[in-house]
Amino acid sequence: MGANAVRWGVIGATTIAKEWMIGAIREAGGEVVSVMSSDAARGKAYAKENGIGKSTTSLSRLLGSDIDAVYIATTNDKHKAQTLAAAKAGKHVLCEKPLALKLADAHTMVAACKAAGVVMGTNHHLRNAGTHRAMREAIASGKIGKPLFARVFHAVFLPPHLQGWRIKDAKSGSGVIMDITVHDADTLRFVLGDEPVSVTAMTQEGGMGAKGIEDGVMGTVRFRSGALAQFHDAFTTRYATTGFEVHGSDGSLIATNCMTQRPVGEVVLRNASGEHQLEIDHGNLYVRSVGAFQAAIAGKGQPAATGEDGIRSMALALAALKSAKTGRDVAVETGL
Ligand code: NDP
Repeated sequence: MGANAVRWGVIGATTIAKEWMIGAIREAGGEVVSVMSSDAARGKAYAKENGIGKSTTSLSRLLGSDIDAVYIATTNDKHKAQTLAAAKAGKHVLCEKPLALKLADAHTMVAACKAAGVVMGTNHHLRNAGTHRAMREAIASGKIGKPLFARVFHAVFLPPHLQGWRIKDAKSGSGVIMDITVHDADTLRFVLGDEPVSVTAMTQEGGMGAKGIEDGVMGTVRFRSGALAQFHDAFTTRYATTGFEVHGSDGSLIATNCMTQRPVGEVVLRNASGEHQLEIDHGNLYVRSVGAFQAAIAGKGQPAATGEDGIRSMALALAALKSAKTGRDVAVETGL
């Protein structure tokens, strides 16, 4: 790590930080200085296990320490208060998705970071995937003509170690829509370079989620350009494959095994000249996220996904939830 390494505090002794983000911060040249957990013993053990020098149960102590930025990865209900406190302390904020449970809260978070002059990012990893970046570029350079339809296959099996608050605790922001559909929303916006207008969705309680918590969803989104996108997200499908397709007037892009945290997957372009694989620059999605965030702190560019991007993905997810409840097509209103 260099002399100017960004010094990070990790808020939440979480799975995502352990499996991906602590390593990504280090690989991107940052330093993980401290971790905060609500439980002193777990925080201590987590710090030891992950080679982090300090742990604390106090947010103000973490924010008062010599750090530049925080990575917030607690359950979704806690993101808002922790972001506001970090902004107040002048720390840059990379926050997990969904930014909050209510859209107004996400707006408050973005506004607070702006007012404090700190960088805010949303950790939407999938726009950092080589597959999705290659698709975005192919579409932007006209390789499939006018995009007409997209199909997102993001039905997975939630592994036993994650079968906690996501499927049981409505207060924490549970359910497949706030967990997975938000990612689809961001990836669709990124790949298509388009904005959603309305959504129709139907949810399922397939036996994994507690009563009233959806563990599967299918839906359709209308975009500004007129393109339609279909999404299928679930926690309950053990044997499904993931994918992302865009079908245009002059060609189709078919990505497989791409809705994942791992830097894998392939993209085939099919058009009048046949079928060929796009060249993919596979790199760690989370390292790219942290790298862009740290560059933004240094005044170079923006985070891969900004706070506003986090508002936009949430707006689509919330509209999908409302549609499932009311049985109607619901306008996606971002308030931006
Ligand atoms: P975890 O379930 O691992 O952790 C959430 C909270 O639960 C922690 O803050 C922790 O509290 C508490 N906790 C963790 N382990 C235990 C335990 N063994 N016993 C008791 N409590 C425990 O969360 P995830 O890592 O799955 O998700 C965290 C956030 O990251 C969410 O907002 C989620 O949506 C997002 N996420 C994003 C991904 C992405 O790719 N962008 C992927 C996965 C998640 P404390 O901190 O107080 O110790």
